[in-house]
Amino acid sequence: MATRFNSVSASILNAIGDTPLIEVDGVFAKCEFMNPSGSIKARIALYMVEKAEAAGLLKPGDTLVEATSGNTGNALSMVAAVKGYRMRVVMPEGLSNERVAISRAYGAEVEFCGNFHVNSALERARELGRQDGFFCPGQFDSEWNVEENREILGPEILAQLPAGRVPDALVMGVGTGGTLIGVGQAFRAVNPAVRLFAMEPSESRTILCGEVDTHAIEGISDGFVPGIFARHGALVNELLSVTDEEAIAAMRGLAQGHGLLCGPSSGAHLVAARRVREQHPELRTVVTLFCDEGEKYLQDHFSAPAPGLVDTAFG
Ligand code: PMP
Repeated sequence: MATRFNSVSASILNAIGDTPLIEVDGVFAKCEFMNPSGSIKARIALYMVEKAEAAGLLKPGDTLVEATSGNTGNALSMVAAVKGYRMRVVMPEGLSNERVAISRAYGAEVEFCGNFHVNSALERARELGRQDGFFCPGQFDSEWNVEENREILGPEILAQLPAGRVPDALVMGVGTGGTLIGVGQAFRAVNPAVRLFAMEPSESRTILCGEVDTHAIEGISDGFVPGIFARHGALVNELLSVTDEEAIAAMRGLAQGHGLLCGPSSGAHLVAARRVREQHPELRTVVTLFCDEGEKYLQDHFSAPAPGLVDTAFG
């Protein structure tokens, strides 16, 4: 029985982390979609803000500004709302409307820059971040992003695995690369042979071959190789790609077969992790992450009746 909420919490920020690890189709999946604000990004949002506060880079009255494909914007907007900062989300057009609406719901201002990919938003956020009264955490380059994943998320997963098991593989898409690299470092400390698999959309294999295109796996493959991956990519053993169609089908399967209402990247992670299990039976303990909740995608992917079912009408 969980006991962490059996007394008064200072704020919703105390509910970040401590998410369940669930075995799905023979792989272990960390349910990061259960974080406040709906994604894994709540962790780095809080971590980077608290590091910046401690370093004197962020002061009362300041405005946080960040380039994002959505989830980090949502998460920082939540953190800013609790801590009393202003928030400017800089994001491309062409992603799910809910991503925009959620940041606005937390009181953030949203500035659009570019289309689908985050490249131009990144330039704009950096430029604003250099101005007085602004602070840009810079998730795509920040070692604080890697550090949170190595020091907090990685150890949390290790502690949840069945007794005596260590990860043999980690499978993860690359948005900033922070999760893959940071959690990968934590895993490698306990199993130097752990294999790290980076997953990309088949429609946009940026790391593998410099291809940049639109795809349905929002939150990864944002249009460029992020600084974190450029610095630490040598840790990665293999690149895998998953098609939009496979990702969406697996995402639906997670909701209908397991009661896990997650986004497309979770579906893609499951497809890639299952493939690793099949192709490398010796890798017994395969870990992946379900990064964001499915409610943001209801309009795009879930609003029609499930395949094979029809809505019933009465009267
Ligand atoms: N899935 C989703 C839904 C995301 O929002 C992100 C982060 N943008 C990722 C996966 C990838 O995480 P990371 O940035 O740590 O590579």
